[in-house]
Amino acid sequence: MQLLDGKLVSQKTKDELKKQTEALILDGKRPPHLAAVLVGNNGASETYVANKVKSCKEVGFESTLIRLEEQITEAELIAVVKKLNEDNNIDGILVQLPLPKQIDEFKIINTISPDKDVDGFHPVNTGKMLLADERAFLPATPFGILLLLEHYNITTKGKRVVVVGRSNIVGRPISILMSQQRKFGDATVTLCHSKTNNLKEITCQADILISAIGSPGMIGLDMVKDGAIVIDVGIVRVNDDTTKLGYKIKGDVNFEDVASKCSFITPVPGGVGPMTIAALMINTMQAYKQSFTK
Ligand code: NDP
Repeated sequence: MQLLDGKLVSQKTKDELKKQTEALILDGKRPPHLAAVLVGNNGASETYVANKVKSCKEVGFESTLIRLEEQITEAELIAVVKKLNEDNNIDGILVQLPLPKQIDEFKIINTISPDKDVDGFHPVNTGKMLLADERAFLPATPFGILLLLEHYNITTKGKRVVVVGRSNIVGRPISILMSQQRKFGDATVTLCHSKTNNLKEITCQADILISAIGSPGMIGLDMVKDGAIVIDVGIVRVNDDTTKLGYKIKGDVNFEDVASKCSFITPVPGGVGPMTIAALMINTMQAYKQSFTK
């Protein structure tokens, strides 16, 4: 069994981006600039946004963190996003999800300029992804998974891929990408969800099993084929009084049981999570470059 080390690959990606940023600055240009909008005080969201801002610093990007009150109205948030759309010094905009219930997430995503949508959630980018347009911003988590497969030279052509979870940000886009005629595509993909019958029967056929459910330890030994490649996207905080923070991060896969059966497996934490941030940094650089070639 070999670990798919997201921390290591993410660091390598960020080192490469840092070199690119340094070259831009030597050339007299400004660095790429990411604006992150954080609404309210959700603990997990705070951590995700802090990691994104920290990564910007590491690669030499500028970043602006905009903190807004939990009670903000939808109209006020739309106004903030519109202002960022119009700011020529900002290349990428991300609005950390989830948003408070008075705000329609789709409306906010639709307000972000597709040219600055570095999370790749805007319908224009979803459409471009579907059509395999190179200028699309790929959603960061699926893109991060592709980068991980690339680093470990994992062949996907002709493989049977099973994705569990059909969200618009992870499960559905990774299933589309891996079924496309492209690098790290050309797979035969099955997309499962909570209404899937005989889930175990299907996951046991997977050469590559990708789990994006959010249910700690749900993927057990009896759901994985011998020698499978297992990619665990799940991140859930599980209460644990023995830790300093009072919780532990758990994935969907029961790692202790499953790992020895796999050829490759991602750890949680340290697998897909850091790759999502690396992919976001690549998208921000892409937005910066594309802003000069519109
Ligand atoms: P969603 O809640 O949007 O989607 C979960 C999916 O899992 C749904 O499609 C749901 O099916 C399916 N599901 C739920 N229970 C079962 C079950 N018992 N059997 C089969 N399928 C089931 O989650 P996200 O896609 O946003 O996130 C999934 C997980 O990934 C979460 O833990 C999240 O924190 C994590 N995540 C991690 C990221 C990273 O960077 N590593 C980035 C983004 C998310 P149905 O559609 O039928 O309801």
